[in-house]
Amino acid sequence: MTGKQVSTKIQAPQGMSDILPEEQLFYKKVYAVGEKIASFYGFKEITPPILESTELFEKGTGEATEIVEKQMYSLKTKGGDSLTLRPEFTPSLARAYIEHGMISLPQPVKLFSFGPVFRHERPQAGRYRQFYQFNLEVFGSKRPIIDVEIIYIYYNILQALGIKKLIIELNSIGDKECVGDYKKILLRYLKKNEGSLCADCKRRLKTNPLRIMDCKQDRCKQIVSGAPQIIDHLCKDCHNHFKKVLEFLDELGLPYNLNPCLVRGLDYYTRTVFEIIAEDELGRQLGSLIGGGRYDNLIKLFSRKSIPACGGAGGVERIIAIMKERGLNPTINPGSRVFLAQLGDSAKIKSLKLMEDLRRAGISVAESLDKDSLSAQLKNADKIKAPYSLIIGEEEANRDMIIIRDMDNGRQTSVKIDKVVEELKKKIKSIN
Ligand code: AMP
Repeated sequence: MTGKQVSTKIQAPQGMSDILPEEQLFYKKVYAVGEKIASFYGFKEITPPILESTELFEKGTGEATEIVEKQMYSLKTKGGDSLTLRPEFTPSLARAYIEHGMISLPQPVKLFSFGPVFRHERPQAGRYRQFYQFNLEVFGSKRPIIDVEIIYIYYNILQALGIKKLIIELNSIGDKECVGDYKKILLRYLKKNEGSLCADCKRRLKTNPLRIMDCKQDRCKQIVSGAPQIIDHLCKDCHNHFKKVLEFLDELGLPYNLNPCLVRGLDYYTRTVFEIIAEDELGRQLGSLIGGGRYDNLIKLFSRKSIPACGGAGGVERIIAIMKERGLNPTINPGSRVFLAQLGDSAKIKSLKLMEDLRRAGISVAESLDKDSLSAQLKNADKIKAPYSLIIGEEEANRDMIIIRDMDNGRQTSVKIDKVVEELKKKIKSIN
């Protein structure tokens, strides 16, 4: 090997981790449940590229947001393009909707995605720099039932994963018209209290005063608790829209909490915004699992058409953390039914061929092709509690035979190798 000696320990980048074999089952479970429920409600899967033009997020997510200001992983390609690892799915899906002419499909168009997103945040529990999201978007409908459908689907996905004690935090942040008037009223109030705001919020007074509403600093929270609330300043259409959302949620019996401080971090939201939070036994909130809302003005930023839309994103690692904490382990496939032991090169190659026959017959099989000692191999068979072992020694290999050993009583029978799959099927059926 050439090159410099590596002196520092190479590790996964901070805030990013390997999804180890034992974790895979959790991701698969979240995907499988999400996919099944979303498909049932007519959502189709779409997988956008992980890298997109930086401009897409600057325009879409919004230049005054924390994500664009501080958290994007951006790079210049050799060809001089500026690309960014997606920090969220929504702008990518809006781009894809326009790029593939989905505007001319019957509306609404319902899409879902699953995959990693990247944000350069300060890593801490439940906050990573690479994490997975399960994303739902509906393009082409302004009806409040769609906002509720998205909330309902996420709620049902979490329930189907076994996560109970959920609460939906809800607010409406109006549309361009009413939010403009509200911002002026809010600014007037906040400016009176400017001296007590944290440094970030002082800056937000100029860039994005609405964000002050969800600042986590105690001093800002106190000021915000006396601030005018947007809900009292919605225009008639936004008011009616929100009223309908609440009525539908009531009819579905979903537990929600009106939260005037919920404004969400992204520029594109209009009207309904929501988060789904898990609570522990004592009713303490365990952080947001899902976040989303309506974004009726996003598509207009990229095309001449005005297309209303609504969506949400579920944080897969946070969902998995709760599943683990509550012992909601995904079921593991039944252990290997059969252990395949072999001796000698000719037996090894016959074993490999036989494994493929077993796979096609749907019989799960474990092996130790790299081992030579028969007793070591049978110990492995005991360890995984396989009810049967198949043994091919050199003699069996020469005669195209194989031994089936019942691991419970040690009884052995010899069969032709091309009959073993059939034989095993019968035996396995009798123990199921
Ligand atoms: P957002 O895209 O910020 O609306 O977040 C949607 C969901 O993604 C949240 O409710 C969280 O469950 C999850 N999430 C957001 N940021 C992170 C992060 N840095 N690490 C892990 N999960 C996150």
